[in-house]
Amino acid sequence: MKTDPMSDDAAALLDVLVVGGGVFGATGALTLARRGHRVRLIDPGPLPHPLAASTDRSKVVRADYGDDPVYTAMGLDALAGWRRWNMRWAEAHGGPVYHEDGFLLRTRGPMSPESFEGQSYAASKARGLPVERIDAAELARRHPQWRADVYPDGYLNPQAGWADAEGAMKQLHREVKAAGVEVLTDEAGIALLEEGGRVVGVLTAEAQTLRADVTVVAIGSWTTALVPELTPMMRATGHPNLLFRVDDAAAWRPPHFGPWAADIARTGWYGFPAKADGTIKVARHAAGVPLPHGAPRTVSDATIAEARAFLADTLPALAEAPLVATRLCAYCDTFDGHFWIDRDPTRPGLVVAAGGSGHAFKFAPVLGDRIAAAVEGRRDAIEPRFRWRSPNGPIAAGRDAARAS
Ligand SMILES: Cc1cc2nc3c(=O)[nH]c(=O)nc-3n(C[C@H](O)[C@H](O)[C@H](O)COP(=O)(O)OP(=O)(O)OC[C@H]3O[C@@H](n4cnc5c(N)ncnc54)[C@H](O)[C@@H]3O)c2cc1C
Repeated sequence: MKTDPMSDDAAALLDVLVVGGGVFGATGALTLARRGHRVRLIDPGPLPHPLAASTDRSKVVRADYGDDPVYTAMGLDALAGWRRWNMRWAEAHGGPVYHEDGFLLRTRGPMSPESFEGQSYAASKARGLPVERIDAAELARRHPQWRADVYPDGYLNPQAGWADAEGAMKQLHREVKAAGVEVLTDEAGIALLEEGGRVVGVLTAEAQTLRADVTVVAIGSWTTALVPELTPMMRATGHPNLLFRVDDAAAWRPPHFGPWAADIARTGWYGFPAKADGTIKVARHAAGVPLPHGAPRTVSDATIAEARAFLADTLPALAEAPLVATRLCAYCDTFDGHFWIDRDPTRPGLVVAAGGSGHAFKFAPVLGDRIAAAVEGRRDAIEPRFRWRSPNGPIAAGRDAARAS
């Protein structure tokens, strides 16, 4: 296309190759195609890929981010985006992909102003959001599943909820194709193609060379397999998803029971309402376990025992419930917990969009613009914390304070 594709001439139309069809790759490809670029997307497939972090039955969607103004603002923009997608996709999906069932945050003991919950509550109040403080008596009245004596304080944010992640990914991929993106499944990038210090495409497992003005590597927890130079900055970690079954599904669905977090910054545990079939997901947003490429994705018995012990103290009826499935899902963990969306400053032609660090899916409606900005060289449209950086450099402020260490 252009003689110098990486010049800062944002108006230039580019030939872009997106490697990876998760939420980063799909939203990036869609936005770039809508901006007029020629876009191809490759993924080993099928799409949504069963092992992708983005392929999941449910993800929390919240703007509750402690006192972090950047994620809070992005979260509020994303909420508006999810509501738009609900209108746009209701017919094709057969209902909403985003369920604004609220988000219930509980604390063990009084909710201190310095805590993640206390800071998030204050930040929402300051923005005039209709958050509601709920004490032990009110919790017991409204949500009798909870040990109100153990979790006497916290609040409900009605402007939050959960997304049917797999459903949303299916709709996104339908839009990606409709926008004219050439989607090649059964294709995995195995090496970057470089010429004269510039990345000009990828070599695929099928021994194809796919050339492009700009190559966007958006392969999540697999990123360092294709860009090993990023190994000091990011790694794959494994995190448990546990699926229990309850008999009385209605009692575990809104308005009786919605998405929740139990002293999450200290325990890491959170969960979702039941589905009509009675299955109910519990997960943990904490340190996780190292997950080398190709390692088995099994949840250990020790983790299952930890979950049951936690539930016995939190949602006792779930602690005894049958466990119907477990899944070890992979985060692409950056050293500072912030996303990675930028051009490689040393190799023109390469953009990396990854580093979800266990909390990127909720931002799906606002990720594409940032990825397109990286491709087009509009760096000022990308928050500094997401730009190319090093663990030896200044650590960007802020983090996902909901994550237990
Ligand atoms: C257990 C768990 C729970 C989570 N809960 C939440 C939540 O509640 N809320 C929230 O906001 N976020 C949550 N997240 C985080 C969120 O899911 C991720 O940040 C996000 O989905 C990452 O998207 P991605 O596109 O980077 O990667 P992925 O979704 O993993 O997609 C990567 C894609 O790249 C493809 N690929 C891999 N290698 C190659 C290759 N060589 N060539 C071509 N394609 C390739 C894969 O097939 C895949 O389709 C959670 C994550 C996990 C693991």
